[in-house]
Amino acid sequence: MTKFKTLDDLGDLTGKVALVRVDLNLPMQDAHVTDDTRVRASAPTILELAEKGAKVLLLAHFGRPKGERVSTMSVSMTLDAVQAVLGKEVMFVPEIAGPVVEQAVGILRPGDIAMLENTRFWKGEEKNDPDLAKAIAANGDIYVNDAFSAAHRAHVSTEGLAHLLPAYAGRSMEAELKALEAALGTPVRPVCAVVGGAKVSSKLDVLTHLVTQVDHLIIGGGMANTFLAARGVNVGKSLCEHDLAATAEKILDTAEQSGCTVHLPYDVVVAKEFAAHPASLRTCNVHEVSADEMILDVGPAAVEALADVLKTCRTLVWNGPLGAFETPPFDAATVALARSAAALSKEGVLTSVAGGGDTVAALNHAGVAADFTYISTAGGAFLEWMEGKALPGVVALER
Ligand code: ADP
Ligand code: MG
Repeated sequence: MTKFKTLDDLGDLTGKVALVRVDLNLPMQDAHVTDDTRVRASAPTILELAEKGAKVLLLAHFGRPKGERVSTMSVSMTLDAVQAVLGKEVMFVPEIAGPVVEQAVGILRPGDIAMLENTRFWKGEEKNDPDLAKAIAANGDIYVNDAFSAAHRAHVSTEGLAHLLPAYAGRSMEAELKALEAALGTPVRPVCAVVGGAKVSSKLDVLTHLVTQVDHLIIGGGMANTFLAARGVNVGKSLCEHDLAATAEKILDTAEQSGCTVHLPYDVVVAKEFAAHPASLRTCNVHEVSADEMILDVGPAAVEALADVLKTCRTLVWNGPLGAFETPPFDAATVALARSAAALSKEGVLTSVAGGGDTVAALNHAGVAADFTYISTAGGAFLEWMEGKALPGVVALER
């Protein structure tokens, strides 16, 4: 198990200043937050620190202002949403270091919360500039990182500060790291990975790593088409990256050497046009796809077999839907396998961890997200972790 300090290692913090990295990069529409999931994820950490008597200073980025003050990207756009979730007043401070922050700290009482400005307004943030880190650290006593979603970046607020102040994982970070450790660090075997979706080329590193780690690899979605094509299957006009055939072959070879069984669909759902319930819809064997058809979902026979594979496994990691799940009936395979995984998790025989923007949407669509053991909302960081990469923000906490 990874060794990092948590809030359990903190006693009374009365009057101490806690610099807390959170994820406030919230989806917005017309200057209103449309989804406060990320705030809710970090609320326990913020409130616990406040309860221990700390003056809590929130640090976060918002959008990509590239080192300039861009008024439409002020993190204060999230202030109302943050106050609503916390049920407490939050002071906004339009700086991240220097006398204005120092003054604010002077005004705050133990247990009060302030939000500092968008860290990315300062060029030093993304360069992990030690001078900026020192200037921010000067106003704090401890550093808490609760933003796993930003942990794949070595920035001042995600990495640099951890070297200058006593550093702790927040509750959300702690939960995420524990879940990921249980899924791929020291998992109970057999382990199954499901990888699907559309971003084939960007997920090949994930597959390369996974085949050396897991016992079963289920490939679906656009990803499966690339592998089927590499094996000489005619995939018609399916989403497919034909130029990656050699890479796909190599992954299959590595899997064989590593004792990982790769499951590709043997029946598929195809159509001539991509629309809801198209007239040309049919289910066929992968070898019967015609030139003017595209594969839009894994077939029912394959899904049944995959559910049987899951029943033999004790751990599941899932990224990427099995089909074009937003358009019915191409959600069938994803929904069916998600329900199998959820049922096994609920019975307590399977530890299931899923992540990825569209994956989370697909599991919500299937109505089973709550039954999974853990759902990660961290897109990029989750994928880098699935690639077996060390995440700088996590490594810094482990020092
Ligand atoms: P995530 O966001 O979970 O990492 P991706 O972004 O890689 O997942 O992929 C999700 C997208 O893949 C979905 O929009 C889905 O419609 C699409 N997709 C899945 N299977 C297919 C397919 N066979 N053909 C076309 N698109 C597909
Ligand atoms: Mg996506």
